[in-house]
Amino acid sequence: MSHDCLFCKIARHEIPARIVHEDDEFLAFHDINPAAPVHLLLIPKHHLASLADIGPDDGEWLARMLRLASELAFANGCNPMPAGGFRLVANTGTEGGQEIDHLHFHILGGQRPWSNRA
Ligand code: IMP
Repeated sequence: MSHDCLFCKIARHEIPARIVHEDDEFLAFHDINPAAPVHLLLIPKHHLASLADIGPDDGEWLARMLRLASELAFANGCNPMPAGGFRLVANTGTEGGQEIDHLHFHILGGQRPWSNRA
C-alpha cells in the first residue's frame, strides 16, 4: 500500500467512504461526485497506479475484479440485462483523464439519460 494514496487510505479505513463491498482483495464504494444514478468505484486493495501497470501475472485477480464489477453493478441499482446494463471505465494516465493514481474501475449505470463524464 502507498502511504499517501487517497484510495489506499480509503482501503485502510483512514478516510471514510460509502463502502458497498469489501473482501481480502477488493473494495468498492460510492463515488463522491457521481456522474450517473449508480456510480461506484472498485479498487484492488494493493496499490497499482493504473491499468498501464498490469503485467502478465495479473490475469487471475483482474478476472476476479471484472467479475465482481458486474456483480456489484447489478446488486447496487443497475438495471438487469438485456434492457439495462452498465459502463465500466478505467481512466488511465493524464491524457486518459485519471486523477487518482490507484487503479480503479468506475461502474456507471441506472436509467438514462446521464452524462458520459467519469
Ligand atoms: P479518475 O478521474 O478516473 O481518477 O476518477 C477519480 C474519481 O474519484 C472521481 O470520479 C472522483 O469523484 C472520485 N473521488 C475522489 N475522491 C473521492 C473520495 O474521497 N471518495 C470517493 N470518491 C472520490
